[in-house]
Amino acid sequence: MEYPSKLIEDAVNEVAKLPGIGKKTALRLVLHLVKENASSTQLLTEALSKLRANIKFCKTCHNISDDEFCAICASHRRDKSILCLVEDSKDVMAIENTAQFRGVYHVLGGIISPIHGIGPSELTIDSLIARISDKGCEVKEIILALSPTLEGDTTAFYIHRKLKDFPVRITSIARGIPMGGDLEYADEITLGRSITSRILFS
Ligand code: ZN
Repeated sequence: MEYPSKLIEDAVNEVAKLPGIGKKTALRLVLHLVKENASSTQLLTEALSKLRANIKFCKTCHNISDDEFCAICASHRRDKSILCLVEDSKDVMAIENTAQFRGVYHVLGGIISPIHGIGPSELTIDSLIARISDKGCEVKEIILALSPTLEGDTTAFYIHRKLKDFPVRITSIARGIPMGGDLEYADEITLGRSITSRILFS
């Protein structure tokens, strides 16, 4: 595509690197920003640079957090005996939206995917083992809430094997979620139900 300005072209190329955004959408967004008044564009750039500079990951569960420990881990109202294992922070948000889960989380940071070069060591599995090996650990049940895909299943089996000698019950969310589906796309009622009616993992 021919651009009237190198500035526009550079901005389009950067925006188009975002997932799900093609060059056409990127151009539309960039032209929108050019038309907007300077102060709102300024607010956007400030929010993005603050985000990159200040975002933290909870030291306990690896969820995105503004502080050293996330609000869920820091809360006394959460049931520390039930831990829900998810792929990433967007799954935590999806499950929190259902208001059906009062336990805590552990965010893996991805799933095992040999095609994409992601092995167990790239994920927070060692940190999970360390977490439940801790003497003060209250966890009695771990719910595997991974996407019902081949990679999700591989990851679930791997973790199940790693955890088999620990005195914890391992369950899996019920398969109300369509095969190959993503937790974030399941509607709140389906996702909420699949957590409350979880089953023993086997
Ligand atoms: Zn946390």
